[in-house]
Amino acid sequence: MANPSILILAGDGIGPEVMAEVKKIIGWYDAKRGITFDVSEDLVGGCAYDKHGTPLHDDTMAKAQEVDAVLLGAVGGPKYDTLDFSVKPERGLLRLRKEMDLYSNLRPAQCFDALADFSSLKREVVGGLDIVIVRELTSGIYFGEPRGIFTEGNERVGINTQRYTESEIARVARSAFELARRRSNKVCSMEKANVMESGILWRQVVQEIHDKEYPDVELSHMYADAGAMQLCRWPKQFDVIVTDNLFGDLLSDAAAMLTGSLGMLPSASLGAPMANGRPKALYEPVHGSAPDIAGQGKANPIACVLSFAMALRYSFDLGDEAERLEKAVEKVLADGYRTADLMGPEGGTPISTAAMGDAIVAALDASL
Ligand code: NAD
Repeated sequence: MANPSILILAGDGIGPEVMAEVKKIIGWYDAKRGITFDVSEDLVGGCAYDKHGTPLHDDTMAKAQEVDAVLLGAVGGPKYDTLDFSVKPERGLLRLRKEMDLYSNLRPAQCFDALADFSSLKREVVGGLDIVIVRELTSGIYFGEPRGIFTEGNERVGINTQRYTESEIARVARSAFELARRRSNKVCSMEKANVMESGILWRQVVQEIHDKEYPDVELSHMYADAGAMQLCRWPKQFDVIVTDNLFGDLLSDAAAMLTGSLGMLPSASLGAPMANGRPKALYEPVHGSAPDIAGQGKANPIACVLSFAMALRYSFDLGDEAERLEKAVEKVLADGYRTADLMGPEGGTPISTAAMGDAIVAALDASL
């Protein structure tokens, strides 16, 4: 059987720096666990524009459609800020998401014990937190028509339209229920069914999919504004939250910040199953290209490493190996290793991006 395939698109700024550490880990799996990935690499974002005049070459897009998983670093940087909108680095990422039809965006908010004091909330509220927000990513108010700024009488009107079809809601609901079955079997769906028709339909469809296909999963519904409050009050009451594009954008950023640094946050964007049964998938850290620290060996590679752990779990059915990698990260943090972004008031010696990668590899060795 062919080896599982990964396309690495490291991108710009700190992207290649954090991805170098993931490549060490991929090498470790090959050498120490006999798990070999067919890895290819290509360009995305500003570096692709520099070479091809476009942030994502058609050949790269075609490769992304063929592999089992795409691993992306980050795109963008000040050098590209003045480019035309159509060729900005971010357009490369948007094209990948759109053409791969990655409708289900998984954003875990996990608080490692060693970092609980980094949160703006109390240790007892966030310590041990482990939830996932599933955000619908390809429809809703960011895409609905009509949209634009129009003139009505003697003033301007800005219009965006929240529009969801039944099938769009159903497929992201299934994605959340499937995820819940791998975790604590609990989903909370969030919308504004009290004031939005799209919210009423959202609630109905999520409930129908639940009753017909996932009756074993515990389902609750919550208005998204109440959900935001509950996320800050007692986030551990949740396991999987499923919500639309707009609310998911806000709630996942709020939840992410419960856990501390941007350098710790992974994500997965999943689409429909391919012929081999695996979902189309793109894994990437939540952070950007961090031009302020690029090239200085200061970047925290953990968000990218944890994104690879998500790939092990969701694209390659290697849940045990994903757990091994997450435990290795946890151990490194518990042992006091910190990149500069994780330096707290207690002080300590910051280690470089590469040293953090080496420490994770050493912890993987110790796990054998
Ligand atoms: P950013 O995430 O790049 O950086 C925000 C702050 O967090 C910076 O101070 C940075 O040093 C720090 N930071 C981010 N990641 C870190 C890490 N791994 N380790 C340590 N510190 C880290 O966001 P920004 O500054 O708003 O944007 C910079 C560029 O990145 C822009 O061009 C933007 O368009 C782009 N961007 C890309 C993505 C993406 O590729 N998915 C996402 C957001 C922003």
